[in-house]
Amino acid sequence: MKRIGVFVCHCGLNIAETVDIKKVVEVISKHPSVAHVVDYTYMCSDPGQDMIKKAIVEKKLDGVIVAACSPTLHEITFRNAVASAGLNPYQFENANIREQCSWVHKDKKTATEKAIEIIKSMIEKLKLNQSLTAINIPITKKALVIGGGISGMQAALDIANSGYEVVLVEKTSSIGGRMSQLSETFPTLDCASCILTPKTVEVGHHPNIKLLTYSEVEGVEGYIGNFKVKIRRKSAFVDWDKCTGCGLCSEKCPTKVPSEFERYMGPRKAIYIPFPQAVPKKPIIDSENCIYFKTGKCRLCEKQCPTGAIDYDQKEKFIEENVGVIIVATGYDLLSKENVGEYGYGKYKDVIDGLQFERLLSASGPTSGEIKRPSDGKIPKEVVFVQCVGSRDPEHGMPYCSKFCCMYTAKHALLYKHAVHDGQVYVFYIDIRSGGKGYEEFVQRAIENEKILYLRGKVSRIFQDDRDDGKLIVWGVDTLTGKKIEIAADMVVLAMAAVPNVGVKELAKKLKISTDAHGFITEAHPKLRPLETLTAGIYLTGCAQGPKDIPETVAQASGAAARAITILSKPELELDPLIAAVDEEICTGCGVCVEVCAYKARELNEITKIAEVNEALCVGCGACISACPSNASIHKNFTKKQILRMIEEVI
Ligand code: FAD
Ligand code: SF4
Ligand code: SF4
Repeated sequence: MKRIGVFVCHCGLNIAETVDIKKVVEVISKHPSVAHVVDYTYMCSDPGQDMIKKAIVEKKLDGVIVAACSPTLHEITFRNAVASAGLNPYQFENANIREQCSWVHKDKKTATEKAIEIIKSMIEKLKLNQSLTAINIPITKKALVIGGGISGMQAALDIANSGYEVVLVEKTSSIGGRMSQLSETFPTLDCASCILTPKTVEVGHHPNIKLLTYSEVEGVEGYIGNFKVKIRRKSAFVDWDKCTGCGLCSEKCPTKVPSEFERYMGPRKAIYIPFPQAVPKKPIIDSENCIYFKTGKCRLCEKQCPTGAIDYDQKEKFIEENVGVIIVATGYDLLSKENVGEYGYGKYKDVIDGLQFERLLSASGPTSGEIKRPSDGKIPKEVVFVQCVGSRDPEHGMPYCSKFCCMYTAKHALLYKHAVHDGQVYVFYIDIRSGGKGYEEFVQRAIENEKILYLRGKVSRIFQDDRDDGKLIVWGVDTLTGKKIEIAADMVVLAMAAVPNVGVKELAKKLKISTDAHGFITEAHPKLRPLETLTAGIYLTGCAQGPKDIPETVAQASGAAARAITILSKPELELDPLIAAVDEEICTGCGVCVEVCAYKARELNEITKIAEVNEALCVGCGACISACPSNASIHKNFTKKQILRMIEEVI
């Protein structure tokens, strides 16, 4: 029989005011399994812990119960104290007589009786506790970052600068993400490329970063500390090792198609480097538009290339990387035109989205920074900005706020006025959300100094009036005055809802992580674990989780990197052994547990057809235990027998 010691804490008056500690000690000391009982004002204090350690040695205890606060507070403190006295830490139990007793009762007699029952039930549990040891798992000291926008780059740099290797996978041919398309950034109006380029260059040259652009994750196996990742390197039809990035190939290429980087407002060639500061500065051939791929003739780029880098036969390659942690930084896209037909987006050339306006503002954009109408190149004198296009709109399936549109619309309006002094700007808005350091001041500056007319209300329709120089007629309502509004505009800029990047759902499936109702990656806990997914070792950052601006994205990226480094910096992963196990004798191999496990910690052994627990993935949530129809699924030190004994004791 175990010799159990019970240590009753007063927690100042938190417990002692409602629970009669003397009575508890008196009753518990008579329990046949209890060899020692003592009470103390603060058990978690150093003298309190010393009292436990001394008693373990002197009274030869082989089980310890501390009756105190919730295990979330001090379970680890007491486990460590018990272990330092030479006892297995899993021969310790925490009886919660504060949150579950003294704090929720007023009547001292009832509370005292309940405290006694709680302790007695824990004695029953402890009697059947096994001595367990922590699970040690080796860690591959390398990280994978998926997505090379500002969030992925920041996370990669933080990890690489801490001395760990990083593989950065980006699906386009260069890094930088959406930020590389921006002109200036709110609220300080720094030039986006001036603050981004040093980062892209640092990533491109960092000795600890292996940059794989034009690549995608094909499959992921394994678990925290030991992921095996298959990566597909798409074929650029250019040998990047030979290419010097001189650009002669693009110069001579006869094919012109709308550039994705310029949001289709400027041309690119069939062989192209997406923008001048691209990292890596290497071209790819767009085989769908290349004349040679379509007709078998041309090969002009091959003739121009001084290094013989063009390789029309280049095949895609698959490579494998072993990594210990993964960070998902796949960013966002803007809602596509099909979803907002009533605003004429995609139908009228001068109805554009926010990123298109960024390209018009950009000195390296299709108009060299001059704001011109896409239809005829004239300077627009009346511009209407419409916020919340799709966002905060359950009808379009996006009830959420896209968070950065209020700010970038104010920025757009301000920059437009800086460029076109006699221009008139109207902004339709629902609310102005400007929470952030210096943000409200920025919006006020736009409204007051630049005389931008903010109209509270929604736009119902935008259509073209062919009689009036092709002006765009904007119909809306000013909800503050209740008046209908009609504006004849030269250009309309829509602040489209931010949506998850294409392909993120498929990627999430490969990574075995979940997405929310809108397709953004779900965090493990919105408040307490916002940087982690539910799969151990996989973290998330930036707009992959939901729309957010650059400062928030960068902060989150550094946070996710710090979480990843806490894993990489350990010699081995030490995991809590209080997880699920399988009684192989009675498992029927039905597989129910495999289906219910949200953490993918269950598998059926292909040969024995018996369920197995991946100890690295199991978090001990207990879903498989309640689902198992054969009682073969068990929770270590929380078996059905223990639970029944505890209940019997209480009732
Ligand atoms: P992204 O920039 O979207 O980067 C994600 C990267 O991941 C991309 O390179 C993408 O190709 C890659 N990727 C996606 N899927 C995969 C995959 N499966 N595999 C590999 N790679 C993948 N914020 C400010 O703070 N100030 C501003 O002035 C400002 N202006 C803005 C103006 C407009 C019009 C818009 C729309 C946004 C603006 N923002 C601004 C917000 C800013 O763009 C975002 O905060 C920032 O880009 C988020 O960075 P990210 O890395 O999370 O995502
Ligand atoms: Fe590279 Fe050759 Fe094109 Fe120059 S011409 S950018 S070396 S592929
Ligand atoms: Fe075995 Fe139970 Fe899982 Fe079925 S549910 S496979 S019986 S452990």
